[in-house]
Amino acid sequence: MSASTILQPGQIEAPAGDIPFLRLPARESFFKERAARFRQLAIDHKLGDFLEFMAALAEAQHAALSHFPQVSLPDPEQLALSREHGMPVLAAGSWTRDPAWRDALQGIAAAVVGNAPQVARKAIAHLRGMNADSLEKLADAVLDGRCRDTDLAASPFIAAALQAYWTHMATTLGPSAFGRTDISNLCPVCASAPVTSVVRIGGAEQGLRYLHCSLCGSEWHMVRAKCSNCESTKGIAYYGIEGDKGAVKAEACEECGSYLKILYMDKDPQLDPGADDLATLALDILMDEAGVQRSGPNLFLLSA
Ligand SMILES: [Zn+2]
Ligand SMILES: [Zn+2]
Repeated sequence: MSASTILQPGQIEAPAGDIPFLRLPARESFFKERAARFRQLAIDHKLGDFLEFMAALAEAQHAALSHFPQVSLPDPEQLALSREHGMPVLAAGSWTRDPAWRDALQGIAAAVVGNAPQVARKAIAHLRGMNADSLEKLADAVLDGRCRDTDLAASPFIAAALQAYWTHMATTLGPSAFGRTDISNLCPVCASAPVTSVVRIGGAEQGLRYLHCSLCGSEWHMVRAKCSNCESTKGIAYYGIEGDKGAVKAEACEECGSYLKILYMDKDPQLDPGADDLATLALDILMDEAGVQRSGPNLFLLSA
């Protein structure tokens, strides 16, 4: 592991004026591009089989999103009230889920079961035997970032369906439905923590850093060289794997003792905030060995 230059906040402050605060995922391409990136990353990778399976899962998410039925959504009054009070209107912890997400779950499971490894096939059989109440409880646990040992193997399918459902709601409502919130380290759409952050390239977003939601895939702006967890600007350091091209680093904060990965698109324009996170688990292991905790979850990597 190598520490790189410590950046001072003033050095790379976002340009003043109008910067896009919120980027919703592009419904038609979001999961499709993630699947393609997983396939690309799987080539000659130690975790190749796992990344190939994640590609199949992302393709199933794309199919689920393309056919998602109408679901209950906040009405204009609720939207206005949430904007006024700076609250995420689709907050994962309190939003009443439409049962349609469970149909998406069954569709996703059916799409991947044929090529799934033995352990995943068993998990899918387990899911299919669960009643609505148990599935809702499991969804609560996944959204809470923890689940029981016995449910761990099933949790990626739950995560995949919940992501498709929340992406469906966010993109159906569209960007004007959401306002800025006061809690800058949580998603302004669904109040989930970010999975990674990404420094974008091109157009008005050139060089700007966005936090990428672990659940709905929305991105919100946060200046660079600032802890995405506690907002401290002191003692931020960047760690990477020696010898790689430096496209993915761990941004660590001395104040709160946590890190989140930061992805640099100028180093690799194909980077995907979800896929590249799972392809760089070696960096998480190094940070863990150094005693630094990860601040945001990857819903496909829950522990019991
Ligand atoms: Zn979100
Ligand atoms: Zn911090």
